[in-house]
Amino acid sequence: MRILIVEDEPAIAQFIRQGLTEANYTVDVVGDGRDALDYALATEYDAIALDILLPRLDGLQILQVLRARGNKTPVLLLTARDTVEDRVRGLDHGADDYLVKPFAFAELLARLRALLRRPPLQADAVLRVADLELDPARHEARRGGQRLDLSPREYQLLEFLMRHPDQVLTRTQIIEHLWDLDSYVESNVVDVYIGYLRRKIDRAGNRPLIHTVRGVGYRMSEDADA
Ligand code: CA
Repeated sequence: MRILIVEDEPAIAQFIRQGLTEANYTVDVVGDGRDALDYALATEYDAIALDILLPRLDGLQILQVLRARGNKTPVLLLTARDTVEDRVRGLDHGADDYLVKPFAFAELLARLRALLRRPPLQADAVLRVADLELDPARHEARRGGQRLDLSPREYQLLEFLMRHPDQVLTRTQIIEHLWDLDSYVESNVVDVYIGYLRRKIDRAGNRPLIHTVRGVGYRMSEDADA
């Protein structure tokens, strides 16, 4: 899962970046409102944590432009202002949730997880495809009840595939969700990691769940022909 952090106070930005990276998220950080809008429009993030008071363009203006352009990325507003009026304004501008500074990192993480859950009405946060299960809260994946030993990158790739079941994901989409803008990524890196994942998930005797869509990308599905 790839998260954009928009925060102009370096200490807070660094604190969030470090915590989310440790929790296996891919993170981009920007501290300027105009840059934030450019990043949010150029890249398909899974969620945005957005400070309100920012240089050049404030968080509410950014939110307004994003929503006006049809961008539905979940947005968690971060702010030092804590009045009912501020909260209402934020939600009216299209924010999905609101967190008042100073906050505990665990709360930020819990709220981001809630925003990332799809579909929103799914009560059970555990993702399932056939007998493959992934529990985002515990960072655990199992196939047929057997726990899988995954590297952080393999886990991220599996989570991304499982959050988009029966959809074809292109190599570009996968790279954008798993690697930050500073990484140098070889074009075959997705195929390499899909290979690692297959060796752990689709082992002999298991029905294959990761399907190659020739010339396009990959699809996770119970059904080979979906
Ligand atoms: Ca600020």
